[in-house]
Amino acid sequence: MSGLGEQLAGRFREMFYAYSNRMERSAQTTLGPSEIGTPCDRRVAMSLLRVPPVNPGGDNWASFVGTCVHAGLAEMFMSADANQGRFAVEVPLTFPSTLVPKGTSDLLDRTLFMVDDHKVMGRWSLDSLRTKGKPSEVYRVQLHVYGYGQQLKGERIEYVAIIAWPRENSNLDDLYVWVEPYDPSVALEALARVERIAASIHDRIGTGLEERNPLQVSATFPIRNDCRFCPFYAPGDKTMERGCNGKN
Ligand code: SF4
Repeated sequence: MSGLGEQLAGRFREMFYAYSNRMERSAQTTLGPSEIGTPCDRRVAMSLLRVPPVNPGGDNWASFVGTCVHAGLAEMFMSADANQGRFAVEVPLTFPSTLVPKGTSDLLDRTLFMVDDHKVMGRWSLDSLRTKGKPSEVYRVQLHVYGYGQQLKGERIEYVAIIAWPRENSNLDDLYVWVEPYDPSVALEALARVERIAASIHDRIGTGLEERNPLQVSATFPIRNDCRFCPFYAPGDKTMERGCNGKN
């Protein structure tokens, strides 16, 4: 790069970081369906206790690309729908939970009775999905919760699917779709688990933990290590002053 090119690259990076940080700050303040499928109770407790995230997980570029691809796919499916009513995109949903009150479902297919979620995946994640033949529990729970929200709106739902779009390829040869029958019990159990963890937080605060900070309260919850992409992961923080060190 030339000297001027280097300068411009630096400015564009700064512009992007400022923009993506602003977007993060205006993000939702309640829990969303994408957060509640984690196997780690402590992570749910930290979200409920509003512990500030400390693990940015890269510079947000991948999630920005994902957001842009989502917008493009929404246009594509609206165009495919041509006002016939087969596809509904970006559907706002509500759930019977004050802790997880709402979400937005990427796509409903009223011909296949299917709720779809777009995942824009890098090579590693896509290979992992293909090799295992199933998504993470986080993604699976998210999908069934969307299915439940759609059902509450009166839609007939029989299947849920993840459509994994390759982020790093120049074609769609590696597009991967995972499907399973819709099971509302997955959603109900996930929502009930959040309620149980919230009640547990209440109990712990009521038994003398009120002088402790939210991090100390959440530290009393069991973990199931799922740390790499956890927003609270602070591996060097032995005494959990800033975030979670991933240990009991
Ligand atoms: S860092 Fe790991 S152990 Fe700690 S809350 Fe996150 S997922 Fe759970």
